[in-house]
Amino acid sequence: MSDDNDSGGIIGTIISVLILAAIWPYLLALLGIYIANMVVLAMLTWIAENWILTISFIAGILAIYCIFKYKLISKAWKYVFAKAQPNAIEVRLNDLPGSTERKFIPSTNLYCYWCTKKLGIKAWEKDSKYYCQSCQEKLQKPNVPSHSR
Ligand SMILES: [Zn+2]
Repeated sequence: MSDDNDSGGIIGTIISVLILAAIWPYLLALLGIYIANMVVLAMLTWIAENWILTISFIAGILAIYCIFKYKLISKAWKYVFAKAQPNAIEVRLNDLPGSTERKFIPSTNLYCYWCTKKLGIKAWEKDSKYYCQSCQEKLQKPNVPSHSR
């Protein structure tokens, strides 16, 4: 008789442990919901009491977020530099004689007009003739009066 009682007690214990194992996530979730509810209520009461501080804090966070998100500082610097740069470039281009009529050709299937070398990435065009980088430099030398002046 005592054996039957023991085995029944063991089975009851196992069943109760299994039920506990099955429902513990729900118990934990209920506890979590309760704690979250308490935290939200506490936050709401704090915000209601210190709403000016809260609004200024949120505005500060939003301002920092906007600065980082849209890179306002770098954009402001780029704007300043873009305003400062074009004048310097214009002066330089006008200083070089004939440099505006030569344009850079990003083509690879052409040959140099002077040395008949196959043109690579660096090719130049003048009067619808194509030159390599070195011949372009030779061409440009007579135009630049560096020794005469
Ligand atoms: Zn050449």
